[in-house]
Amino acid sequence: MKWPNEKKCALCLTFDFDAESLWLANNERHHEFPGVLALGKYGAKVGVPRILDLLKQEEIKSTFFVPGWTAERYPHLVEQILKHGHEIGHHGYTHDAPDPIDPEMVERELDMGLAALHKVAGIRPVGYRAPDGVASELSLRLLAERGFLYSSSFKDDYKPYRHTLVDGSPGPVELPEQPELDDWAFGGYSMREAKPLYTKDAVLSIWQDTFQELHAWGGICMMVMHPQVTGRPMRLATLREFIHFTRKLPDVWTTTCREVAEAFVAQEN
Ligand SMILES: [Zn+2]
Repeated sequence: MKWPNEKKCALCLTFDFDAESLWLANNERHHEFPGVLALGKYGAKVGVPRILDLLKQEEIKSTFFVPGWTAERYPHLVEQILKHGHEIGHHGYTHDAPDPIDPEMVERELDMGLAALHKVAGIRPVGYRAPDGVASELSLRLLAERGFLYSSSFKDDYKPYRHTLVDGSPGPVELPEQPELDDWAFGGYSMREAKPLYTKDAVLSIWQDTFQELHAWGGICMMVMHPQVTGRPMRLATLREFIHFTRKLPDVWTTTCREVAEAFVAQEN
């Protein structure tokens, strides 16, 4: 696609505001361990407020994907995110993986997430990101039936495209991700599976190199971050430096997912 206003590429800073929901997902016993849940709680207590401050300083509008469970638990943060002018997208209800082996569960998660965001903030999101990246044909069909504009869960391209459903009808627009641009790969923490730590420079090098190539290719740079990861001190400094780096390249359109999807649709017809 051609970007509006002669822009060379698009940059979306997105935040999956999972909080504890990620740690409760697919695990019946985690609610018994506040020490484990604390890793996610940090995202709400510290991560989101710090990220909102940074985005304000840098004058950037972004997209937060919020599970219904998280919205119900932290309505004041949902309110803050909207007050700062950011977009809120759908990210399931419980953060359990929407596995199509249980079609009713996939549908229930979608509808409960919609109901929660409506109840908490009076909004109807137009975008969806699948918890755990578990996006299926079923999810795409349900999104289309509910009038979602876009999905951002697939990793099979560098520019937006439109899904085609199994029956040949059009699905939502996809705003694809790059695995290298997900902060969980570098900063996600697990008590059970220790991972090596990545320094700020290591992460910056990967993000900057990917961004630079996507800029040259005219693609979309979809940053997938988590307040419980990127809201940590060193990681937030990494994001700040990355934002400053992106400003060194010309004609970058830094915006929300919704705006990118709408620009795609505008030139599709
Ligand atoms: Zn998530």
